[in-house]
Amino acid sequence: MVAAIFGLVSVVALHASGSSDRPGKEPAWVKNIPVEKIIEWRRYIHQNPELSYEELFTSEYVTSVLESFGNIEVIWPTPTSVVGILRGGKAGSTVAFRADTDALPVPEETGLPFASVNEGVSHACGHDVHTAMLLGTAATLSSMQKQIKGTVCFIFQHAEEQSPGGALDIIQTGVLDEVKAFFGLHIGPGQVPGAVGILPDGPASTASDGFYLIIQGKGSHGSMPHLGIDPIVTGAEIVTALQTIVSRNVTPGEMAVISVGKFQSGNAPNVIPDRALLAGTVRTISEPTRHLLKERIRTVIDNIALAHGATYSLEYTSGYPAMQNDPALNSLARASAIKILGSGMVTDAPRMTASEDFARYRKIAPSCYFNLSTGPGVTNHHPAFNPDESSLINGVKAEVQIILDYLDQN
Ligand SMILES: [Zn+2]
Ligand SMILES: [Zn+2]
Repeated sequence: MVAAIFGLVSVVALHASGSSDRPGKEPAWVKNIPVEKIIEWRRYIHQNPELSYEELFTSEYVTSVLESFGNIEVIWPTPTSVVGILRGGKAGSTVAFRADTDALPVPEETGLPFASVNEGVSHACGHDVHTAMLLGTAATLSSMQKQIKGTVCFIFQHAEEQSPGGALDIIQTGVLDEVKAFFGLHIGPGQVPGAVGILPDGPASTASDGFYLIIQGKGSHGSMPHLGIDPIVTGAEIVTALQTIVSRNVTPGEMAVISVGKFQSGNAPNVIPDRALLAGTVRTISEPTRHLLKERIRTVIDNIALAHGATYSLEYTSGYPAMQNDPALNSLARASAIKILGSGMVTDAPRMTASEDFARYRKIAPSCYFNLSTGPGVTNHHPAFNPDESSLINGVKAEVQIILDYLDQN
């Protein structure tokens, strides 16, 4: 994702797990989870990270593991993504679980024996863990193929970290058109390794857009402002006025953010420069507000520039939309996680402030995204991000239970 999932830091502050919180008798499939293999796969992928849109080695590795199960059809919808399809022994619906496979241009500083061998590239967002867990889920479900009611698609998606993102590419090929529900998860730091955080119904992350503005004024001597057009004064007014959009135009209570993070202009105290550069980020949780902000930002800039006699060029970039958790799928995910992990290991997670291109799958069918705590430590995208591997087994258990329950109930 474009930004670290800071929301996860405070996700999991669980009370001690008493006997009433424990799950019932474990289902038979739990013993089919290839725990050691999952760690082995994770370490291998971790050691060989690839940047967005370059996940060729990873896709080949995922393919070889999926093919080793013997009953999973493997397709490559794009040059660096893989979809595994498991057709169950009984007729039923189609459900998909998505893992992302790309790494980041972050030099690794974990000191792990299986640290990245690709200089300057590392799995600092934990997509190696996502990929290994979904392989574990595929292995477990493939071992019970005859009992499965319906079809499972395992999506190993490329390029989550780089807009426009790999989800769009895969969706456009049509290979997922039959999917009736999408699930996905993200790992991140939390107090208890292996605890599941259920995100809110509806908006579960923000849409992330941005703008780049060049204000063109007219340079002058600092003592003769009447002979110039001051882009700093114009820009300052724009920055201030932009802040009124959230406070005066957005419905109170709906989350929205406009932050100007860059304002560059001028070199000397007695010179009025001829241009100013501004850039900002825009976060929203609904499409109407997303459009409103885009429109209002343009109107504010246009009119203030006009009032000052300045001209401008504005580039507005649209990133990932906000994820929308389907309430029914979210409640299924919660129930499934509690069933397999116990209520003491399932908690409410706050909305993610980061953005995720998993949001795009909702174009095809309802979707649900949740968090998995990988223990205390630094946040995702930090060079020393180091998830506790003991949490992976719970991730696989939750994934398998959610898939089985969805297919049983639909
Ligand atoms: Zn990320
Ligand atoms: Zn990520």
